[in-house]
Amino acid sequence: MKETKHFINGEFVGSANGRTFANTSPATGQQIGIVHEAGREEVDQAVSAARAALTGDWGRMPVAERMALLHKLADGINARFDEFLEAECLDTGKPASLARHVDIPRGAANFKIFADLVKNVPTESFMLDTPDGAGALNYALRKPKGVIAVVSPWNLPLLLMTWKVGPALACGNTVIVKPSEETPSTTTLLGEVMNDVGIPKGVYNVVHGFGPDSAGEFLTSHKGIDGITFTGETRTGAAILKASADHIRHVSFELGGKNPALVFADCDMEKAVEGTMRSAFANCGQVCLGTERVYVERPIFDEFLARLKRGAEHMKLGAWNDPETSMGPLISKEHQRKVLGYYDKAVAEGATVVTGGGEPEMPGDLAGGAWVQPTIWTGLADDAECIRDEIFGPCCHVRPFDSEDEAVALANDTDYGLAAAIWTENAGRAHRVAANVNAGIVWVNSWFLRDLRTPFGGMGASGIGREGGVHSLEFYTELKNVCVKL
Ligand code: NAD
Repeated sequence: MKETKHFINGEFVGSANGRTFANTSPATGQQIGIVHEAGREEVDQAVSAARAALTGDWGRMPVAERMALLHKLADGINARFDEFLEAECLDTGKPASLARHVDIPRGAANFKIFADLVKNVPTESFMLDTPDGAGALNYALRKPKGVIAVVSPWNLPLLLMTWKVGPALACGNTVIVKPSEETPSTTTLLGEVMNDVGIPKGVYNVVHGFGPDSAGEFLTSHKGIDGITFTGETRTGAAILKASADHIRHVSFELGGKNPALVFADCDMEKAVEGTMRSAFANCGQVCLGTERVYVERPIFDEFLARLKRGAEHMKLGAWNDPETSMGPLISKEHQRKVLGYYDKAVAEGATVVTGGGEPEMPGDLAGGAWVQPTIWTGLADDAECIRDEIFGPCCHVRPFDSEDEAVALANDTDYGLAAAIWTENAGRAHRVAANVNAGIVWVNSWFLRDLRTPFGGMGASGIGREGGVHSLEFYTELKNVCVKL
């Protein structure tokens, strides 16, 4: 059985306390490995290693050399593409067709993109007049922030972890990653690639475990870290904020969403249905940017709903390595219980189940997995819990609207503000609605199309701060001013 250890100071090490937990396949419910659980001792060791590396070879390395190493790292992931692919698919159950195009290539690309970006970022300077007429020159310098704690989720494990580790290392920081307990494998495998390409010891460290009273809490409350970047649930973000408050840490939070899609009668129906199919059901609905609230202008409501239903009923649930599979399982039996709980609650709250609504029958080994049916509802009240809460499963509610103002008001009737999709062929409306919807990212006639130079993050309960492009530098560097009296 596969054994997954921590990666500290360039070495794979087990837990001193001997504690381990099971790595379970979400597709079958069977155990596929054991994972060491870090205690305070391993977290202390990782923080010490990361701090020492800041002033060692890594800290002294010329920028061009650091960037060349990050390019080699991305090439190193691609050279072991199939190993990363299999590890990610076994941990998550997601179809290889998805991970091959999204998780692994984008996971690797994150290192190159931020290496190229950091090399080319200017800083500001100002000349100040002084009474003696000689003046003073001010210029800004960006320094690495220091030791960064990276706490990542299970839905896109490699991609979302490197989305943070890429800019952190490009800016000269060192990191300690606490991957989700559900998906420990690719984060650990990356340690091997770090060693293979010659990233100095202590720059990249990994500790495994859970959140409260485990590696997550020990890391985020540790005195020796300089910043925390976290992607996960809003509730967890609040717990981390409290745990880190005593030491005054800069945080960057990418949290949950309850994202709307606004489908106007003047949309291209084909595109809108195809896009909403993806945004509601891709990755079994476990995408923070996914759509769980669909608002459709009344004249096209029936046709749109019928087409979406047809699409959902054509999805093929199956094993990750079956080329026919278009949807995998949820991440765990625990998450399956949560999602099925919402499926029951929707009915109790008065929903009409258009399709799905339960657990599918799966053949053979797959019968023990965390499967749920892609599900569409209508008829829920705007204040129903299924409309307010992030469910994080393959489900959406479809509701009609009658005017643009009503559509915008419905979209904004949420505590969250992560993403929105607008489907219209009217350019004026597209820009107007995009400006008025409260979300960190708004797509017009597309979904999940990402230019990594652009700001990414959420409003309200969806996060704190922006990452992406030069915006990542706000978190991963300290900006200081030098004032020189001439
Ligand atoms: P989660 O909050 O349960 O866990 C995320 C990570 O935090 C895991 O590594 C977990 O072990 C750790 N953790 C949990 N409790 C902790 C604590 N008290 N202290 C320190 N660490 C702790 O999230 P998840 O279930 O893994 O991921 C799904 C959630 O992530 C959804 O809400 C989704 O919307 C969100 N998400 C957001 C984005 C975004 O970019 N905004 C992207 C992906 C996922």
